[in-house]
Amino acid sequence: MEESTFLTKYSSKVYIIHWRDSFRASKIMQSRVISNPKIERFPTCKSPPGLFFAIGHEPATKFLDGQLQLDSDDYVLTHPGTTKTSVPGVFAAGDVQDKKYRQAVTAVGTGCMAALEAEHYLQEIGSSN
Ligand SMILES: Cc1cc2nc3c(=O)[nH]c(=O)nc-3n(C[C@H](O)[C@H](O)[C@H](O)COP(=O)(O)OP(=O)(O)OC[C@H]3O[C@@H](n4cnc5c(N)ncnc54)[C@H](O)[C@@H]3O)c2cc1C
Repeated sequence: MEESTFLTKYSSKVYIIHWRDSFRASKIMQSRVISNPKIERFPTCKSPPGLFFAIGHEPATKFLDGQLQLDSDDYVLTHPGTTKTSVPGVFAAGDVQDKKYRQAVTAVGTGCMAALEAEHYLQEIGSSN
């Protein structure tokens, strides 16, 4: 829904080809698409001049194999405002813990937070030994 709406800035017509007859996007995103005259669903058009794929997002957290607490969509849970995970000394940054923005700049920002928090963690355990 989001990508098709965005593409209408650059194209006079956008067709959505979807694998089933209902959408899972939020109601507001769906209503934006439905009310947008540039967007058509399930096209009769046989040869579009351009094709953009948008296949959703699945966080790459399977390798963790239950070692960190995840949410119901398999994103790593972090303590609010930090990159701390359910395991002390393990920090999560970027798309694996960011369900909302999933942008390079937010990944870099949380990466910086994780580096600083890891450094503080190492200092803390170093000074307590
Ligand atoms: C088509 C597309 C367009 C985008 N356009 C923009 C844009 O214009 N602007 C913007 O800000 N953001 C954009 N993004 C989003 C941006 O790319 C991501 O938010 C950002 O790359 C996330 O960084 P990351 O380091 O968290 O994850 P990634 O960049 O995905 O890096 C994760 C790395 O971990 C590796 N990895 C995964 N599993 C394992 C494993 N088990 N062992 C070892 N390595 C592993 C992967 O191979 C990958 O190299 C776009 C994304 C896509 C898909």
